[in-house]
Amino acid sequence: MSAVVTPLDHPRAGLDSCVHCGFCLQACPTYLALEDENDSPRGRLVLMRAVVEGRVAIDDADVATHLSRCLGCRGCESACPSGVPYGHLLEAAREQLAAVRPLPFVARVILWAFARPAVLRVALWFGRMARDTGIAAELARLPGALGFPFAMLASTARDAAVPWTPRAARTRGTVATLDGCVMEGLFTDVNRATERVLAANGYSLCRAPGQQCCGALHVHAGDAATARRLARANIAAFEASGATFVAVNSAGCGAMMKEYGQLLADDPDWRARAAAFSARVRDASELLAAAGPMPGAPLPRRITYDAPCHLEHAQKLTAPPLQVLAAIPGLEHTPLDDREQCCGSAGIFNLIEPNVSERVLAAKMRCISATGAPVVATGNPGCLMQIGAGLVREGRGAVARHPIELLDESYARLER
Ligand code: SF4
Ligand code: SF4
Repeated sequence: MSAVVTPLDHPRAGLDSCVHCGFCLQACPTYLALEDENDSPRGRLVLMRAVVEGRVAIDDADVATHLSRCLGCRGCESACPSGVPYGHLLEAAREQLAAVRPLPFVARVILWAFARPAVLRVALWFGRMARDTGIAAELARLPGALGFPFAMLASTARDAAVPWTPRAARTRGTVATLDGCVMEGLFTDVNRATERVLAANGYSLCRAPGQQCCGALHVHAGDAATARRLARANIAAFEASGATFVAVNSAGCGAMMKEYGQLLADDPDWRARAAAFSARVRDASELLAAAGPMPGAPLPRRITYDAPCHLEHAQKLTAPPLQVLAAIPGLEHTPLDDREQCCGSAGIFNLIEPNVSERVLAAKMRCISATGAPVVATGNPGCLMQIGAGLVREGRGAVARHPIELLDESYARLER
């Protein structure tokens, strides 16, 4: 056993609960795509155990490769009968790995920018310019991984939303919304739609100035120190807002913020505040489902729904997004095969592991094509851009939309 306590020693009990049954294998997109046991949850847990027991070094090239190829989708957690906390084990392993082996250059630049709001604002401004001038759509034609980021950017384009004014007879509590880096930068209209539909369902909105990136990208990449710094800033900002709930329309950010209690569990000054904060975090679909939600006007549209991993597996929220969609009369919903399987986005995974990501996305696109639906609903910016890019490249005119965008459009029709 290692003499020094490392991040991976900490959640070691989780490793011990794996009984090697293999139930998780068929739930693992990288195992299905690569057909290598080392790229399965069971295989990666064996590698982590070998590291903890000192039989292999964390920076061994094979260990690093197989840990880096994990999407962190936590589909294996939902399939596991033994309750192995795979996500936390992966984060600890990556924290240990990052200490001795630098992340790829692209990853370091992205994480650096996401921890600096002013830098990120400028970067996202350039992104919007590339999208709104049509440059991104042109560059999306470049082959393979070269054009993919531009296809992601092009997929965030929206027609201007029809303005409408929310009216609600009662209040269900005060809500401060997380702006989110990518959501506010590239999905601004979805954020405004979220505010409108929450207000229409009886929530009073307030602002939480000073909020920052949620830190999910950092913790998933092994930079827990930066994630903790961002978490403290967010806790302070939302505490000052006085809101009853923190509403999040990005599945990945919500999952992270619901785990601030664990992230800061070793910090005596912040432990209790973090746990209290996490208890107030809700996905926007949870708040809407708790309110009904109010039905909208008919929106005759054929859709299919893809479940973001960080809603389905990390937050265990299956029903609320479907309840949001069910509040829209006229939607024709074709169920998506393997809707709980990752699309291959996984934060910045698609940018640093493009080959694995492309193979995982290909499986998702086959399922989507089989539905024939022109709209894919999914509640996470990474999934919206990954599937959106797949649809842009497919060229049949189908689009990815947040479920709340569709509800907002349905509510706008009530006013006509
Ligand atoms: S992680 Fe869970 S499902 Fe997978 S092999 Fe271990 S005990 Fe079985
Ligand atoms: S997190 Fe996802 S990609 Fe990683 S081992 Fe689990 S199921 Fe496979």
